[in-house]
Amino acid sequence: MAKDPGRVLIFDTTLRDGEQSPGASLNLEEKLAIAQQLARLGVDVIEAGFPFASPGDFAAVQKIAEQVGGEEGPIICGLSRASKPDIKACADSISPAPKKRIHTFIATSDIHLEHKLRKTRKEVLDIVPDMVSYAKGFVEDVEFSCEDAARSDLDFLYEVIELAISSGANTINIPDTVGYTTPSEFGDLILNINKNVPNISEAVLSVHGHNDLGLAVANFLEAVKNGARQLECTINGIGERAGNAALEELIMALHVRRSYFNPFFGRPPESPTPLTAVRTEEITKSSRLVSNLTGMVVQPNKAIVGANAFAHESGIHQDGVLKNRLTYEIIDAKTVGLSDNKISLGKLSGRSAVRARLEDLGYDLNREDLNDAFARFKDLADRKREITDRDLEAIVSEQVQLPEALFQLKLVQVSCGTSLMPTATVTVVGKDEEEKTSVSLGTGPVDAVVRALDSLTEEPNELIEFSVKSVTEGIDALGEVTIRIRRDGKLFSGHSADTDVVVAAAQAYINALNRLVAAEGRNSIHPQHDLAKVNKKSG
Ligand SMILES: [Zn+2]
Repeated sequence: MAKDPGRVLIFDTTLRDGEQSPGASLNLEEKLAIAQQLARLGVDVIEAGFPFASPGDFAAVQKIAEQVGGEEGPIICGLSRASKPDIKACADSISPAPKKRIHTFIATSDIHLEHKLRKTRKEVLDIVPDMVSYAKGFVEDVEFSCEDAARSDLDFLYEVIELAISSGANTINIPDTVGYTTPSEFGDLILNINKNVPNISEAVLSVHGHNDLGLAVANFLEAVKNGARQLECTINGIGERAGNAALEELIMALHVRRSYFNPFFGRPPESPTPLTAVRTEEITKSSRLVSNLTGMVVQPNKAIVGANAFAHESGIHQDGVLKNRLTYEIIDAKTVGLSDNKISLGKLSGRSAVRARLEDLGYDLNREDLNDAFARFKDLADRKREITDRDLEAIVSEQVQLPEALFQLKLVQVSCGTSLMPTATVTVVGKDEEEKTSVSLGTGPVDAVVRALDSLTEEPNELIEFSVKSVTEGIDALGEVTIRIRRDGKLFSGHSADTDVVVAAAQAYINALNRLVAAEGRNSIHPQHDLAKVNKKSG
């Protein structure tokens, strides 16, 4: 059997595979904020990026290695193909981390060898030991993946794994790259690798999988029963196509059903020992942060983190839950960090109260960011009586976006109603640092605002998604707007929150445009916008 570290190791790849979701691209500050939250969540490994892919990826992995990895913190890992320049770039970027890992991979299925790599099996058998030992020259901790393992010839797969381990790989990862396998097949594959690779006891067996048939989490749980001890997953299950296995679902399945999974760890069924090191109370916050920063909205009925995951609608269920929660609930919402605690922050709360609450929520802001957050808090408190934790999170998570912005929103005014043509006036500080104002008509207030912004910014694009949801309940709730735009086949998202959804939409649109401009490498000249200064009037 493969090596058993005594628990299931959680390898988070939100920043690598998750970031490959269409439109989910993150800037350096956003990646750092997510990595810091992943460390609080208690994942074992953070796959921070693919350093050879671009200078931006390299810089982000390096920054995370400097600031997030610690002796007690997660291992910082980078991905590299099985080639020397790739592995070298990976080694350089992760070098500042106290605990670091190189993850290198090559495809092992015939279909990938023939059509993608154009290499023979014999060539792969030469490359694997060469590249694993090359990686081992930089770091002690090396992970090797057989890409498309689930569709590979078994005897060839065993041979490749054996070679990788004898060349120094400490972790062997088995990906279901195309999301094709089923739970019993995948479980058998893991069992067969355990049985047929002679030196398998020297490495931890890991799994990676995609959700094309909606089976990724089920496949992983079956793999755990068969000896897999590392799960590669992402927050909210984001990733290529239908996404990766969702971290929160895996964690809660292993938590809620721990007495079911415990016997597979050789422990008594009722043993209270947790099966992972993840702090479940951090799940909700991690999910919201990733959703806000990537612009990937979580569907309301998504397990664990969807808005309805803990809502009871039918009278019979509500009655049961009121009498005893266990009648219809398998998870206490507090376990995943969901609380409806109304905190007593309001108009009269001072800076130190706001700072203390933000610290409790896990946000450790520098002076400048705290000033900015406090200004936004004050502005919101003028319009909303009670400020909840969710409101504070919405304020701060938007602040992480776009530290330097080319376009700055100065003013939004809309008039609309049953007898009026929706008309928007907007003022933007743009490329030449001049304030410009434009007025546009539209089919609705948001349409009018977007048309006015388009005429000022002159950045043609296609608006492909516009979604609004309320942060909390109540008529004065903050509205969160997520916008996705497309240009030249690339997607960019923008996110913003305000008690006025039209203002939030304008700001979200500007945020998306700023990301588009930043991605094209055009230099930004302005400091971050300050929503508190935006005047608004909408009807
Ligand atoms: Zn993948």
